Amino acid sequence: MEEKTFRNYDAPDVSVAVKEHYRKMRQHQTYDYVKRMHKKYLTYDKPMDLWEAMGHLNKLIDVSDPDLDLPNVQHLIQSAEAIRADGKPDWMQLTGLIHDLGKIMYLWGSDDDGTSQDEQWGMVGDVFVVGCQLPASCVYPEFNALNPDMEDERYNTPTGRYEKGCGIDQLELAWGHDEYLYQVLENHKENSLPKAAMVMIRYHSFYPWHSEGSYEELTSTQDQEYLEIIRDFNKYDLYTKSQKIYDLEEVKDYYEPIAEKYLGTGPIYW
Ligand code: FE
Ligand code: FE
Repeated sequence: MEEKTFRNYDAPDVSVAVKEHYRKMRQHQTYDYVKRMHKKYLTYDKPMDLWEAMGHLNKLIDVSDPDLDLPNVQHLIQSAEAIRADGKPDWMQLTGLIHDLGKIMYLWGSDDDGTSQDEQWGMVGDVFVVGCQLPASCVYPEFNALNPDMEDERYNTPTGRYEKGCGIDQLELAWGHDEYLYQVLENHKENSLPKAAMVMIRYHSFYPWHSEGSYEELTSTQDQEYLEIIRDFNKYDLYTKSQKIYDLEEVKDYYEPIAEKYLGTGPIYW
């Protein structure tokens, strides 16, 4: 597929489910909701091996993705294999392989939180900043007005509850798989992935910032560096989607030593 054919949310064949997903996400992802999810999900008390977690993504199809209807583990392998084919470093290949693993949240999620197979608005999709004004660059910007925080004067200005130029690490983003995996790995003692990998994991769904240039009031000069890291990664997250099917067991032989090098051999606490 050509690049412009990806992420076309107005294409006639984009399912009603994708649009519905974004409506609910915009409606429910408020500052208070995000704080509640942090408390609920960032507990690090559920040990699970990396490969077992990968296996669970064999049962999950991302409803927000207009470009792919394969189980998510296929997208992870496709991304990793493309990064590998381009001769990128081993840590980036591993990052491609695991970047969406936070979606295993659905195993202990709920419809009410938007973190289940059926309701994914608290788990997947482009994220935005909570606690300040929603930008017009969001997909389906017509749904911005549905967000209750946009009626709240603490939150409905361009900087909202944040300091001007504070940098994106200071912002609270809509809750989802990026932040979940980032925090889980931050808490994982054996993690030695480089900072760039952690940036790729944490911000890859932050499209209004990395692809639309929104939130200028809030970003810092350091974020410019982050932007280059994310853009390098993003092409593999986006343009490698295809119907090609891999066998997880087959690619495991290659990736397992890399995973052990950067994440150790013990379980990860989710
Ligand atoms: Fe993702
Ligand atoms: Fe992805």
